[in-house]
Amino acid sequence: GIRNFSDLKKVAVLGHGNDGTVYKVRHKKNHSFYALKVLRFNQNSIDIIQPAKVLEAEILKRVDSPYIVKCHAVFDHATCESDSGGGLSFVMEYMEGGSLNDVLTEHHRLPEEAISVLAKRVFEGLDYLHGMHIVHRDIKPSNLLVNDKGEVKIADFGVSHVVEGRFDATELNAGTCAYMSPERVDPERWGGQDVDEFAGDVWSMGMVMLECFLGYFPLISPGQRPDWATLMCAICFGEKLKMPEKASSEFQNFLRRCLEKDWRKRATVKELLHYPFVNRMH
Ligand code: ADP
Ligand code: MG
Repeated sequence: GIRNFSDLKKVAVLGHGNDGTVYKVRHKKNHSFYALKVLRFNQNSIDIIQPAKVLEAEILKRVDSPYIVKCHAVFDHATCESDSGGGLSFVMEYMEGGSLNDVLTEHHRLPEEAISVLAKRVFEGLDYLHGMHIVHRDIKPSNLLVNDKGEVKIADFGVSHVVEGRFDATELNAGTCAYMSPERVDPERWGGQDVDEFAGDVWSMGMVMLECFLGYFPLISPGQRPDWATLMCAICFGEKLKMPEKASSEFQNFLRRCLEKDWRKRATVKELLHYPFVNRMH
């Protein structure tokens, strides 16, 4: 295990977030690489942000699945580092391939076979999380990471939520709205009584798969600059998304079931795991 924060040596920056930085680090003794996500507690920021970070740590400590980026240790700087203003650090398995966002930047789009393989893994991961009453709420390409074997795993529980959980759940609407389901963008119109929060993750993954296939984000024409209003209108008032003609009927069917605007009609993760699209022989 990783006992001491001081055993980790920063070698590069992997990503910047709203209030954190992710570093590539090397362990001075076992010489392995890890990813270190550092969340600083901003003294001036409103208090509700901090429970969200504590929740991220609690979730990371509890989840253990081959479909979710593994967290090896959590350091609380209030107790282990006297010089800092507090904060949390997560030592995670290093995902050599970067995020799906990086993959898309490099390859532009992905073949259907690759999407089938990665979708299978992400839906297995969601099934595991939902079984623990955890809604991810921020499924998007930059939060799906790839290792050196080409395996995709779910990361970033920064805005996750525990349904009827024992944790202190926070209602933070952070992150991008682009991948958000209609019922989260506009609960008045699309939500209704007893919204199934897990359905939002299915919608987001539908968007991710469509983007992987098309090579651009489905709701905005290539080259257009996205803004919140345009996206919100497209998600909630836009026409049903057109399925790409070049996609197989299995893939189109799968996508359609993920991208049902009405969450009541949308397929669940459990149902989707039985679909032919994610059960191909490769
Ligand atoms: P944020 O809450 O700031 O979005 P993330 O956990 O999503 O933080 O990490 C931000 C970025 O850092 C990711 O999109 C990815 O590029 C990189 N990153 C995060 N974790 C890892 C990891 N374990 N291995 C490799 N890169 C990572
Ligand atoms: Mg992220």
